[in-house]
Amino acid sequence: MTATDYNAIVLGAGAAGLMCAAVAGQRGRRVLLLDHAEQVGKKILISGGGRCNFTNIHTAPDRYISANPHFAKSALARYTPADFIALVDAYGIAHHEKTLGQLFCDGSAKQIVAMLLEECAKGGVEVRCGQPVRAVKHADGIFSVAFGDRPIRAPNLVIATGGPSIPKMGATGFAYDLARQFGLKIVEPRPALVPLTLGGDDVLFRELSGVATPVEARAGKAAFREAALFTHKGLSGPAILQISSYWRPGDPVTIDFLPAATPGWLIDAKRARPRATLAATLPLPDRLAQTLAERLELAGELGAQTDRRLADAEAQLARWTFRPNGTEGFAKAEVTVGGISTANLSSQTMMAKSVPGLYAVGEAVDVTGWLGGYNFQWAWASGYAAGQAL
Ligand SMILES: Cc1cc2nc3c(=O)[nH]c(=O)nc-3n(C[C@H](O)[C@H](O)[C@H](O)COP(=O)(O)OP(=O)(O)OC[C@H]3O[C@@H](n4cnc5c(N)ncnc54)[C@H](O)[C@@H]3O)c2cc1C
Repeated sequence: MTATDYNAIVLGAGAAGLMCAAVAGQRGRRVLLLDHAEQVGKKILISGGGRCNFTNIHTAPDRYISANPHFAKSALARYTPADFIALVDAYGIAHHEKTLGQLFCDGSAKQIVAMLLEECAKGGVEVRCGQPVRAVKHADGIFSVAFGDRPIRAPNLVIATGGPSIPKMGATGFAYDLARQFGLKIVEPRPALVPLTLGGDDVLFRELSGVATPVEARAGKAAFREAALFTHKGLSGPAILQISSYWRPGDPVTIDFLPAATPGWLIDAKRARPRATLAATLPLPDRLAQTLAERLELAGELGAQTDRRLADAEAQLARWTFRPNGTEGFAKAEVTVGGISTANLSSQTMMAKSVPGLYAVGEAVDVTGWLGGYNFQWAWASGYAAGQAL
C-alpha cells in the first residue's frame, strides 16, 4: 500500500471519528477509519441509557469547560444541534426532548450508530476494527500507522480515540500518548460527570442511599439546579455530576436543599404551625428531613425555637457544606475534563499548529461539555470541522 492510497487515517471510530470520517469521505477524500474495539461507537450505544442523548438544543460555548473558553466557539457555530437534528430526521429516526433541551432517540442508540456508518459508507470510508494500533511514525509529511499486518500510510492523521473515562469499555489515554509524541501539551485530565464520595463527618449521609431531591449544588462559581441523589459512597444525580466537572480535590460542595423557598419561610412556618417539628415541616423526603433536623439539633416543636435559631437553620439548609473526599474516578466518569491543549490546535480545523496534517477531535481535546447531550454535540462539531478541512 502506498502513501497515496488514503488521504486520511482517522484513529478511533467513536462519535467524533465516525462524523469526521463520513464528512471527509463525502468530500471525496479516501479515508480509513481504525478502532481497536470489535465494534464501532460503543459509548454511543450505551449512552443515555441506550437511547443516546445525541444533542442539546441549548448548546452554547458557555456550557463547555476548557482552559480556553473561546476555543469551541468556531466549530460549535459551524455545526449546530439543528444540523445534527436534520441528519437524524433525514434518516427517519424518531426523537423527543426529555428535559432541559436534551434530545433522545425514541427507539435505540443503535439507530445513531447505524446512521453514522451509513454516512461513512456514502463517503466510501473503509472501516477496520478489532486490532490494536501499535505505533505511529511521521516522516517526510507522511504518517505511518502500525495496524494489523503492515503499516498504513497517509498524509493526514486524526486523533479521535477519546478520553480515559470507563476503561472497561476500551477507553484509553492513547490520544494523550500520541499527542505528546508529537510535542503537543496535555491539560491535566480529571474524571468529570462523576459521583463524589463522602467521608469524615459526612459519612452519615451515606445511610440515605437511594434518596433523591431537587437541589442547587455549587462548587466555586458553578451552580446547577437539578436532582441530587445520595448513594452508598456519597453523592450523585445530575446536579452532582454537573458540579463534579468543576470540583477540585479539597473544595467544598454546597447544597441548597430548598432552592425555591422564599427567605423567612421557616419563621413563617413556625407562626403557621408552632406544634410541628422541623423534620415534619421540611418539604423533603422523610429520611433526609430527619437527618438534617438531627444535624441541626432542632428536634423539638418549631414554636419552642427562637426566630434567630430558625433563621440560622434556614441559612444552613440553603448552604449545606459537604467536603467530598474524592470522586468515583475514571471507572465511573462519563467524560474527562482536560486533554490535548487547545493552544496547540486551530479552532477552525482542529489541526495541530506545529504538525501539519495532524488533527485531534472529540473528547481527546480539552473541551468538555455539561451533562445533557453537550458532549456528543462537541464530538459532532469538532469531527465536522476536521472533516471539512481534510
Ligand atoms: C455511560 C456513558 C453515557 C454517556 N451518555 C452521553 C449522552 O447521553 N450524551 C452525551 O452527549 N454524551 C454522553 N456521554 C459522553 C460521550 O459518550 C463522549 O463524550 C463521546 O463518546 C466522545 O466521543 P469521542 O469520539 O471523542 O470518543 P469515544 O466515543 O470514546 O470514541 C473513541 C474511540 O476510540 C477507540 N480507541 C480508544 N483507544 C484506542 C486505541 N488505543 N486504539 C484504537 N482505538 C482506540 C475506542 O474504542 C472508541 O471507539 C456518555 C459517556 C458514558 C461513558
